[in-house]
Amino acid sequence: MAVRPVAFRKPQNPPETEPSHLFDTHPEVRLDFSHVKDALKQGYSKPFLLVDTSIIRAKARRFKAAMPRVHPHYAVKANPDPRVLKTMIEEGVGFEIASIAELDVLLGLGVLAAEVYYSNPMKSRAYVEYAAAKGVEWFVLDSVEELRKIHSIKPDAKLYVRIEAPNVGSDWPLAGKFGMKGPEVDAIVAEAVALKADLAGVTFHVGSQCRNPENWRAGILGAKRVFKKMRLAGLKPRLLNIGGGYPVRHVKPIPSVEKIAEVVNHALRDVPQSVRVMAEPGRYLVSDSGYFVCRVVGTATRAGKRWMYWDAGVFGGVLETTEGLRYDVLTDRKGKLIPWNVAGPTCDSVDVCMRDELYPEDMREGDFIYIANAGAYTTAYASNFNGFPLPDVRVI
Ligand SMILES: *Cc1c(COP(=O)(O)O)cnc(C)c1O
Repeated sequence: MAVRPVAFRKPQNPPETEPSHLFDTHPEVRLDFSHVKDALKQGYSKPFLLVDTSIIRAKARRFKAAMPRVHPHYAVKANPDPRVLKTMIEEGVGFEIASIAELDVLLGLGVLAAEVYYSNPMKSRAYVEYAAAKGVEWFVLDSVEELRKIHSIKPDAKLYVRIEAPNVGSDWPLAGKFGMKGPEVDAIVAEAVALKADLAGVTFHVGSQCRNPENWRAGILGAKRVFKKMRLAGLKPRLLNIGGGYPVRHVKPIPSVEKIAEVVNHALRDVPQSVRVMAEPGRYLVSDSGYFVCRVVGTATRAGKRWMYWDAGVFGGVLETTEGLRYDVLTDRKGKLIPWNVAGPTCDSVDVCMRDELYPEDMREGDFIYIANAGAYTTAYASNFNGFPLPDVRVI
């Protein structure tokens, strides 16, 4: 059982090139560890995410206070648990979806389809038909083909084009997969005019866990340039969607949402009031609300290297470490810190979460692992691969 957590915070100053005045200027929150101990008193049979919805509420309010002009629309994929979604609804937060399964959950909770934004740039015909039939009005696109596809199904759809935005300083740069460059946008505008399609907005995504506020400035500037082109072509732009990417505190220092807001609010000054401004925070709203709890299945020494195997690995929710995210992980051990490789319980060689991470040398079978600020992109990614159970979500 948990005694007292030991934190493996490796002090990391931002590199010289990063302007230090941006980082850790405002206190970040975290679920009180005593709740984790209380949850474990109710037993443990498999990994679980413990979520405190009051932290989600606080984050939603903080986001809105920082950017009064910007309506938050939660990116459902970060954590689609219905209790999380319900909390968003109660806080007046809207939604952004990638699939019709996400839409169905929202409709089941009473969300109005017209307030759901379909922000996946590549949608199957069947999904567009379904979403349109259910009343979704706003659809993103970033190719002429997608414009024609959506228009052929729903000629009165309200469309927003995703443009490329710089992803400098994001932990998950998305540049390249989605987003149009200037000349490509010209072709979209021309095609929308020819089809008499209602191309009415612009969006961008700066990349997840974005630590560089300047990316939002560049994205908004790019959007304004597209608005100008749209107006010149006779279209009526009325949506600016500044996407997701707002970071949360793990090991590296981050710019607070208030620091990002300084940049965003300034860039929005000359955007007419007739334009609705929205954002799509995912990680920001849910990460801090939860601890992910799992357990050591066993340990081994291979070629002189210490390995430990957790009952949740890459397929069980601890996936983002493979993309470079470093969580603040607590244990109950106090031994000397040594480098460990950490793997999941499956037989797949991909199932290695971390290499050479420092953990106490006395870690052993049965120990609990407490991953802080893990409310986003953990349970959402988990699969039943190899017959291991999905993690629970326990809500307080
Ligand atoms: C994933 C995603 C988001 C949310 O990103 P976060 O980094 O979690 O804030 C927002 N918009 C779109 C289109 C996305 O795909």
